[in-house]
Amino acid sequence: MTSVIPARLLDGAALAQTIRQRSREAAARIPGSPPSLRVLLVGENPASQAYVASKSKAAAEAGIRAETRKLPADLSPSDLLAEVERANGDPAVDGILIQLPLPPQHDSAKVLDSVDPLKDVDGFHPENVGLLHQGRPRFVPCTPAGIIELLAAYEIPLAGRRAVVLGRSDIVGKPMAALLTARDATVTVCHSKTKDLPAVCREADLLVAAIGRPGFVTRDFVKEGAAVVDVGINRLTADGAPANLMRSDRIRRVLADKGRTLVGDVDFDDVAPVAGALTPVPGGVGPLTVAMLLHNTVKAASLRT
Ligand code: NAP
Repeated sequence: MTSVIPARLLDGAALAQTIRQRSREAAARIPGSPPSLRVLLVGENPASQAYVASKSKAAAEAGIRAETRKLPADLSPSDLLAEVERANGDPAVDGILIQLPLPPQHDSAKVLDSVDPLKDVDGFHPENVGLLHQGRPRFVPCTPAGIIELLAAYEIPLAGRRAVVLGRSDIVGKPMAALLTARDATVTVCHSKTKDLPAVCREADLLVAAIGRPGFVTRDFVKEGAAVVDVGINRLTADGAPANLMRSDRIRRVLADKGRTLVGDVDFDDVAPVAGALTPVPGGVGPLTVAMLLHNTVKAASLRT
């Protein structure tokens, strides 16, 4: 049985504007110099360059001074650690962001561990991860933090509800599960070894998909009326498009016109008639991630010693 009422669209882009405005007002209230963000971008990955450009633009619009250090792809591990140390010790830097992925010669965990936890605006340092899991968050990773804002804005109930998080990355899945647990949801985390995945996901009142597989979540995964949050950002070309997505007129048309498009982990057209609420891609979780980075940077400035 499918619902005749199509899913309510959860408009992350609109909420992101509100959060950005809030951050701008909070930044203006910081005494002394405006909040500042140091971004370390190693190498020439085009997607990373685009992400950094959009984060820097958003920061500038919020009254945050963002400075990107563009570092060569062959930078040595010790030189990158020295760069982080300089940012740690610079009182003019409030927040530090290491753009991932790093080139293969770097040990990402070691680099993230070297960031001053009080400047760790991505929330990836083990101290901040530990605080989050103990229920006393300081810096919360931007993507799951943005999803919590979205669920709150649309008054999606969490307490006592079943939540399934599809994906267990340190960046999205694990912190998402911790945040939902802290809000009294009953949380199941699924991953590539989970058995009967669609059946587990169908138990969810809230399904968060973060696996990086285009259109993987179809209506078989979704209980009627469930809220579905699509974290995935997948660059799709006609060659690599899964058959279920190619059944969508909309996607076929964009691919024919432009040769590529961005899609989520959820097959939007298939799931929309079943879900109670659904995020689009683009315009769902992505803009919230950028907005929460601004929020965290202003928070870092408020923690200046
Ligand atoms: P990741 O580190 O690659 O982790 C993927 C997770 O999905 C892993 O836990 C993996 O399981 C699981 N998985 C992969 N294939 C699966 C399958 N067939 N069945 C069940 N589980 C499977 O990815 P991530 O960094 O969390 O990112 C996930 C997606 O979100 C990507 O598309 C990424 O681009 C997007 N993303 C978007 C934003 C945003 O701002 N919107 C931010 C971050 C990430 P195992 O642990 O067993 O390997």
